[in-house]
Amino acid sequence: MRIASIRQGVVPISSAIANAYIDFSKMTASVVAITVEDGAGKKATGYGFNSNGRYAQPGLLTERFIPRLQAATEAELTRKDGGLRPAGAWAAMMRNEKPGGHGDRSVAVGVLDMALWDAAAKLAGVPLWRLLADRYRGGQADDSAWVYAAGGYYYPGKGVDALVEEMKRYLGMGYTTVKMKIGGAPGTALKEALSEDMARIEAVVKLLGGDGSRLAVDVNGRFGLHAALTYGAALQPFGLRWYEEPLDPLDYSTHAALAEQYMPPIATGENLFSMLDARNLIRHGGLRPDRDILQFDPALSYGLVEYLRTLEMLARHGWSPRRCVPHGGHQFALNIAVGLGLGGNESYPEVFAPFGGFADSTPVVDGRIKMPDTPGIGFEAKSALWAVLKDL
Ligand code: MG
Repeated sequence: MRIASIRQGVVPISSAIANAYIDFSKMTASVVAITVEDGAGKKATGYGFNSNGRYAQPGLLTERFIPRLQAATEAELTRKDGGLRPAGAWAAMMRNEKPGGHGDRSVAVGVLDMALWDAAAKLAGVPLWRLLADRYRGGQADDSAWVYAAGGYYYPGKGVDALVEEMKRYLGMGYTTVKMKIGGAPGTALKEALSEDMARIEAVVKLLGGDGSRLAVDVNGRFGLHAALTYGAALQPFGLRWYEEPLDPLDYSTHAALAEQYMPPIATGENLFSMLDARNLIRHGGLRPDRDILQFDPALSYGLVEYLRTLEMLARHGWSPRRCVPHGGHQFALNIAVGLGLGGNESYPEVFAPFGGFADSTPVVDGRIKMPDTPGIGFEAKSALWAVLKDL
């Protein structure tokens, strides 16, 4: 097994949307293509990109991670059964990196890791979800994955009616659960922001037939403990699906304080980028394995090689993989959800094009999605994304 070539590019994710923390109009993504040869005449090209919320990483890729991957030996890249070994590639990429400080480096490695898993599944002639089920779950794969529609962003001039119309479109597409941003009303004091958000939430819950368990809300890490508790008290009666990133993602003890007061599910983890950060959340965040949701995004956090370590850590702490619903809305995490038995996956039906969304041939039905049989991650089965990747 050897790396024949690695190509990379930077593409914009043009969007007028904003959440409570950032404006996405300047967001970019790295895309890579890695061609691998198995030494027995077989060759495959895998593709990768970074998940939304973090910027393209051309500098880190060019200066450190691509040269190290190109220098990986055949022994490092090859499994005992002759298949491609992403864990060996990972160790080569991380040579000369100190522990801790997971910032943007985990994004750069994640882009390459995604492409390596795409290539590994293509060389094996199977979809990635099948490869994962065979390698790590005794061949058992789920027949579909639960997905929910994430949206409800703040746009300039967007009122409650436009929010309800947006959520109506998601229900029309086959989703049963939706998510909206809260806590982002610009320049408003807590009391006013809360009353504005309550009107938004009440309108969406009404659309959902009064069933709050079909709505999740996302703060994007904006609140301190006081605001998180104030909102929590107001949200509690709705019995929402979950209350997402109420607090700074790295401030574990405040999560524990909130989890003592707020009884319905809390979700977090999309901004934790390593197994060790995830373990600190589990050790110190006071989260409850019977209800809370973990949203680590494999594409942002050193890829699937590291995500497998995170799942192993969770199992040792008594957490089921069903409690994991990755952030990002990409096909990589969807394959992982089906192949490794996670609780589901995020989906962005109207934003982060063309990276969000799934294969063209697999519509959402009753809030679930089936996987195509395309070898690899399935990018070729999503025409808008393939149009960008194939230019590499
Ligand atoms: Mg979020």
